[in-house]
Amino acid sequence: MTTIDNLPPLRSVIRDHDLSARKSMGQNFLLDLNLTAKIARQAGDLSACDVLEIGPGPGGLTRGLLAQGARRVLAIEKDARCLPALAEIAAAYPGRLEVVNGDALEIDPLSALTPPIRVAANLPYNVGTELLVRWLTPETWPPYWQSLTLMFQREVAERIVAKPGSKAYGRLSILAQWRADAQIVMQLPPEAFTPPPKVSSSVVHITALLAPRYPADANVLSKVVAMAFNQRRKMLRAALKGLGPDIEDRLQAAGIKPTERAERVSLEGFCALARAVAAK
Ligand code: SAM
Repeated sequence: MTTIDNLPPLRSVIRDHDLSARKSMGQNFLLDLNLTAKIARQAGDLSACDVLEIGPGPGGLTRGLLAQGARRVLAIEKDARCLPALAEIAAAYPGRLEVVNGDALEIDPLSALTPPIRVAANLPYNVGTELLVRWLTPETWPPYWQSLTLMFQREVAERIVAKPGSKAYGRLSILAQWRADAQIVMQLPPEAFTPPPKVSSSVVHITALLAPRYPADANVLSKVVAMAFNQRRKMLRAALKGLGPDIEDRLQAAGIKPTERAERVSLEGFCALARAVAAK
């Protein structure tokens, strides 16, 4: 029995199901249920929501989400060794937890979810950024999710919320801040995990806006930003030369000095540039 539910403590679950952490699966488990409940609270009011969780592992965050009242949790886990432990949680919360065994990069969860939908995950580091980029770049906006509450290495979290002029400012900052609000809401030291990773971690809460902050074509913006930050130390007229011989005119039309560097251009500036490039 624990403080948040009637299930066994996570250390017993790990021992009973022989769930020694595997590096190849990005496994760093959270075993403190008070901490996982706290992360679940950062996801907002879950009582009317379906929650998509990636990588439930032994189920620490899953139990936090359910104890915080999530209407339903759909959890996608690649490591089949975790399934019996997750089945015990499903039995304790009848009808509220569905577990899918598979790779989150290959499964489209949408047909198994009913809106409103929130996403919460202590992400495997090896697939975290790829999943985030996919969530931030769907074909239509608003996306299927209302919010993303995600654990990242601190360095990645800082890139997501970075502002112009900082070293961390880049493609992830633009993608996250153009059509969403992004905030770091918790910091976790390595010792919070078993085994402890080499780096500190942060929880980022991202809320989808109904419409983009500034108009721009998503594909053009994405291409411009990728090129600009790919050679972030170069002046934009050089970094963006691949966009055409008239790139200096486009930069000027967007109110950006051709000698400027990507990390000093605001989100509004990149959107203006995407519009100037699209207007060709
Ligand atoms: N949520 C658990 C916790 O907080 O203790 C585990 C977090 S651990 C950092 C990442 C989890 O993601 C592991 O359980 C791992 O097996 C799982 N995982 C790794 N790659 C995955 C993938 N491509 N799709 C789904 N799950 C994956």
